[in-house]
Amino acid sequence: MSHDSTGPLAGQVAAVTGAASGIGLACARTFLEAGARVVLIDRDEGRLAAACAELGEGAFALVVDLADPASVAGMLDGILAKAGGLDVFHANAGSYVGGAVLGGDPDAWDRMLNLNVNALFRSIHAVLPHMVDKGRGDIVVTSSVAGLVPVVWEPIYTASKHAVQAFVHTLRRQVAPHGIRVGAVAPGPVVTALLSDWPKAKMDEALASGSLMQPEEVAAAVLFMLSRPRTVTVRDLVILPQSLDL
Ligand code: NAD
Repeated sequence: MSHDSTGPLAGQVAAVTGAASGIGLACARTFLEAGARVVLIDRDEGRLAAACAELGEGAFALVVDLADPASVAGMLDGILAKAGGLDVFHANAGSYVGGAVLGGDPDAWDRMLNLNVNALFRSIHAVLPHMVDKGRGDIVVTSSVAGLVPVVWEPIYTASKHAVQAFVHTLRRQVAPHGIRVGAVAPGPVVTALLSDWPKAKMDEALASGSLMQPEEVAAAVLFMLSRPRTVTVRDLVILPQSLDL
């Protein structure tokens, strides 16, 4: 793993949630390559250890179950103990429940909003005081195209990501006076475990038509946002696939 000590994130500490796989892992790798020390946060201890072993020096594993408020309460201390600071917090962890409301599992709503919305809020709330004390910090959120337009076959996921997007817009105003920038990346479908319930034929077709992105493309966009001069507010970066007709 190349670590550019003169890269755009040189000397910074970035923490990424949901970093044991998919978009979070790609972002952790990209931040490390850009010169940051990176704390990878996930509830999956085994995959987290494997990810950190792969990334090597400058990558630290922190096991946190974001759905458990007690676990999130210890998160900031864990980050500071592992990496000695915190400059970038990437609230990326999320899950997906597709399908209909009619006849669907009524508990799906609670499960999805608990991780995608409640845990995201709680984790950001936990790290803000540190950034306010420093007078500087960057918060990035992985939203989704489903946070910008209704994806009609994903009502619960759409509701959760609309809440995330609205939170990002409003949080930005509150924390900007403290030197804290807030941004969101809103990708369309990305090739990760999140799409594991997609039928193979649909996946093959979407890949062939260029409608799916790779996690590394999302990570490059997030790094672009974080690399803007601090005089530039980090704003939403929307990455849409070529088509949503999947
Ligand atoms: P993924 O399943 O590959 O990774 C999610 C990670 O989050 C996993 O490592 C998992 O262990 C972790 N996680 C889940 N629940 C957790 C918890 N309670 N505590 C700690 N960690 C937990 O999924 P991904 O596709 O990389 O998704 C990352 C984010 O990107 C999500 O917010 C998702 O909504 C968003 N997103 C994904 C896509 C897509 O098509 N894959 C598109 C747009 C947005």
